[in-house]
Amino acid sequence: MKIVIHRGSEEIGGTCIQLSTNSTTILLDLGLALKKDSKDPDLSGLNIDGVLISHSHADHFGLIDTLDPSVPVYIGELGKRFIDATRVLLGKEPFSNDFRFFIAWEPFHVGEFKVTPYLVDHSAADAYAFLVEAEGKRIFYSGDFRGHGRKGVLYKNIISNPPKDIDLLFMEGSMIGRDNKNFPAETSVERKVLNVIKDQKNMTFIICSSQNIDRIVSAYRACLKASKTLVLDFYTAWVLEQMKIVTTNVPTMDWNNIKVFADYGQDKRIKEHPDYFGDFRQRVYRHCRVQKEELYEHPEQYVGISKISRFKVIESYKKYGQVNLIYSQWRGYIDNPEHKSFGSDRISAFQNDPMVNFVYAHTSGHATLTDLKKFALAINAGKLVPIHSEFGHAFRKYFDNVQQLHDGEYFNLTKKRGY
Ligand SMILES: [Zn+2]
Repeated sequence: MKIVIHRGSEEIGGTCIQLSTNSTTILLDLGLALKKDSKDPDLSGLNIDGVLISHSHADHFGLIDTLDPSVPVYIGELGKRFIDATRVLLGKEPFSNDFRFFIAWEPFHVGEFKVTPYLVDHSAADAYAFLVEAEGKRIFYSGDFRGHGRKGVLYKNIISNPPKDIDLLFMEGSMIGRDNKNFPAETSVERKVLNVIKDQKNMTFIICSSQNIDRIVSAYRACLKASKTLVLDFYTAWVLEQMKIVTTNVPTMDWNNIKVFADYGQDKRIKEHPDYFGDFRQRVYRHCRVQKEELYEHPEQYVGISKISRFKVIESYKKYGQVNLIYSQWRGYIDNPEHKSFGSDRISAFQNDPMVNFVYAHTSGHATLTDLKKFALAINAGKLVPIHSEFGHAFRKYFDNVQQLHDGEYFNLTKKRGY
């Protein structure tokens, strides 16, 4: 089997791995780079039979619009809905690829390859690892994963019942080289949010991703305990609605202690796509909406999350006293010049604003070094190939059987395990 990492051997994000047999070529992920100077892979000479997308983070799917639209893209249905939600609410059309939905642990075939998706714990819901088999070889691709989220049991299941006889394991290593000390679990994020909001005199704003379902659940559970109401924007409310296809345990806008604030810009987009959103807008207006006047009248009753937490809105609440601002995503987005984006300087400035109580409450979507070690040991692959890490060169320090492949390097997986 021919293997090429097109991107991701020495960086986080932009992952793209090619696996080819004599007759079939597939890609594992086709992501946008997070690193500013990263060069997109040139796939022009390839005849691609299918692309497997591990989850709905742009650094894993963001280049699928560069594919010939007839190439099948295999993805979880929920993940596809998340991708569409972001695009439609940003004013773009959904991708026009040939999407095919797989189901967790149900094997399917792409040409000569047999693929089994393993649901994993990650900051994106509907995230998968893949067991890929062809020509008598078994490859396991971890995707992005962790063991300390609300679905940590999925990690434990893989450790206690790992896929057997794996010839080659592509394992992510985002947290290698980062500070792994005092690593919080998702439940401790919930406690931190609760501490901030329980005696609040003014509104609290939480800055986090709308698609980090674990985080929204943490914020909601803290609100319930503190008798506060969580305020969603349209986009976050829509993302939570999508969760209904897989679970009824995740809070949605019709639950107690949740309201939706109808932002004008998002409202306009929703009105433009009546077929896509169905009766969602009407349901918000009829049953779940909170007006600006109510928020201003009782700011101490509310916790705004995700896209509610824009700096103009935060500024407007300072007149009621000190505002709580919980920064609940990777610190690198405000601290690291490589990853700064529009608005990150304004958010960062709140740290020195006496009218803002700035609190950091976050945990990573990626496995700690300790959890990576247990994972690698359990799978015990013939070769362990680093992926999605800035420290691929350091894997040898921590794991056995490491074989580092560099971007663009051709590798032929021929030898039987153990030779
Ligand atoms: Zn991810």
